[in-house]
Amino acid sequence: MFTSINPYNQRKLKAYRLDTGNTIERKLKQADRAFADWSALSLRERTDYLRKVGGYLNTEKQRYAELMSAEMGKTLREAVAEVEKCAAACTFYADHAEAFLADEFIKTEAQASFITYQPVGAVLAIMPWNYPFWQVMRFAIPGLIAGNVGLLKHAPNVSGCSLAIEELFRACGLPEGVFQSLLVDVPVVETLLKDRRVKAVTLTGSGRAGSSVASIAGREIKKSVLELGGSDALIVLADADLDKAAEVAVKSRMQNAGQSCIAAKRFIVEKSVKKQFTERVLDQINQIKQGDPMNDATTMGPMARLDLADSIERQCRDTLAKGAKLLTGDMKRSGCNVAPMLLDKVKPGMAAFDEETFGPLAVLIDARDEADAIRLANQSDFGLGSALWMQDLDKADRLARQIQAGSVFVNGLMRSDARVPFGGIKTSGFGRELSEIGIKEFVNVKTIWIE
Ligand code: NAP
Repeated sequence: MFTSINPYNQRKLKAYRLDTGNTIERKLKQADRAFADWSALSLRERTDYLRKVGGYLNTEKQRYAELMSAEMGKTLREAVAEVEKCAAACTFYADHAEAFLADEFIKTEAQASFITYQPVGAVLAIMPWNYPFWQVMRFAIPGLIAGNVGLLKHAPNVSGCSLAIEELFRACGLPEGVFQSLLVDVPVVETLLKDRRVKAVTLTGSGRAGSSVASIAGREIKKSVLELGGSDALIVLADADLDKAAEVAVKSRMQNAGQSCIAAKRFIVEKSVKKQFTERVLDQINQIKQGDPMNDATTMGPMARLDLADSIERQCRDTLAKGAKLLTGDMKRSGCNVAPMLLDKVKPGMAAFDEETFGPLAVLIDARDEADAIRLANQSDFGLGSALWMQDLDKADRLARQIQAGSVFVNGLMRSDARVPFGGIKTSGFGRELSEIGIKEFVNVKTIWIE
């Protein structure tokens, strides 16, 4: 059984029976059958279905948000915004899919030569619990519109969300088998990837999971997209708007109780403004209201699981033991309710610099000048997102190109946005989600040449 536990109070919510071998086989058969019919529909017919999904998400947002908050502890406000973001992505792809997937003609000596984009079949999506709807939908919306069908292996602690997403597609009239949730353990993933009916895989999660899944997919010669961890730098240079930078830095780090792959995990600050920036950051952290995620006044809920809270505590202790200084917060936590923390004097060689920290732990790192800031930002095995705070935009353009990451946001909150590609380099993964590039990850880019 998979058991959902409310992380705020550790109350058991519900237990879910795992899928048996027979059920998995039935779902694979259904996916295969559904692909034949779904991919034969016109693009317009599929986008109409996804528009309906967007509308349904908006109508049902409170119900879905409550489920997310209960299962993994994000505040209700954050959860509602997450459902709205999914709905907006439905509209975005419904509006643009025709242009994204249109045949592309290429001038050659042939009578006609062009590229056409065709779906590949069933794509397995292995997803984490931190954005239980958004992570799934940012794969599913473009994937289904392109004509693929989806099989979801969600994180066990959000099994209720997993089934709710399957129900969402059913409620909007999508044919049976176009999107199915599998309640399965990790070892089943290898069996699924070896099955000829599963054509590709996308995984959002840790490097450990990504490495394992990509190895199996590689052996089976199946395409994989990996969206893995990050240790995003947020660089603050001397000419930055410090009020805004501090406000956004704390939001970026502490949203979702610090459990975001693209959270600003390392604040790298030019020394001349460090003191002023730190004061502002402390002020922002002091305004955070921790508590029951269902309560309107709460701005930060609990972490999603006890083992995750244990990890952040271990990383904080290790970093302090190596000479960092705790400026606010303490480690006297109650279960998953971890107080927001700020560490100063963090350096390479400390856990909070070298590892991904997935919880409400902000760290300050001193930079001598802009060149030192870029060097420190790039001194990481990760390369997901990053942020740069400075007024000189010509220089920002030059520096942004030097940062080793899949995205750089200048003077703004690093975020995923359906209009622009999202993904990482180095151990943060490969491939991209969202935008035109995202919808083309799981298609056969077919050349047709007519002499
Ligand atoms: P995780 O342990 O890797 O779990 C993510 C998903 O992968 C879960 O469904 C998990 O199932 C599954 N999984 C784990 N090991 C696997 C394996 N060997 N083979 C197949 N599937 C496996 O990740 P997490 O710690 O829960 O999630 C947080 C991580 O995800 C962080 O590193 C975060 O940065 C990353 N993340 C990245 C992005 C991005 O877009 N780049 C977005 C969000 C999160 P079980 O739970 O059953 O093990």
